[in-house]
Amino acid sequence: MEIELGEITTCQMTLAAIAAYPGECCGILLGKTSESGEVEILETREAHNQIQGAQKSAHFRVDPLFLYQVEREIEGSGIEVIGFYHSHPDCAAVPSDEDYENMVPGLIYVILSVTKDGVKDIRSYKKDINY
Ligand SMILES: [Zn+2]
Repeated sequence: MEIELGEITTCQMTLAAIAAYPGECCGILLGKTSESGEVEILETREAHNQIQGAQKSAHFRVDPLFLYQVEREIEGSGIEVIGFYHSHPDCAAVPSDEDYENMVPGLIYVILSVTKDGVKDIRSYKKDINY
């Protein structure tokens, strides 16, 4: 299975990660899964990181109401929520123990490593498998 990040969505996530630095950005990945299992990310939606204060640089939580609103909006469009992205300020683009625990099997998790100089690395994960 391959994940096609796409130029526009990569750009959107990169800008979100830089804007949120030194906090974590987070958002929703919208796209399609083909019958052969190929995943295509078509859109990203930046979510408000519900974690505030000092914790914000190490944790994120997508507002469930926002997720619900996005799901309602795309209902019947053929596009679905295929995963989530978030940034790791001054840390590698590798899931933390907490990230890993919160991963839902089947969904895609994109992690961006960001420093004050910009985004250094972007990686996507699915539980148990690293792409
Ligand atoms: Zn993380």
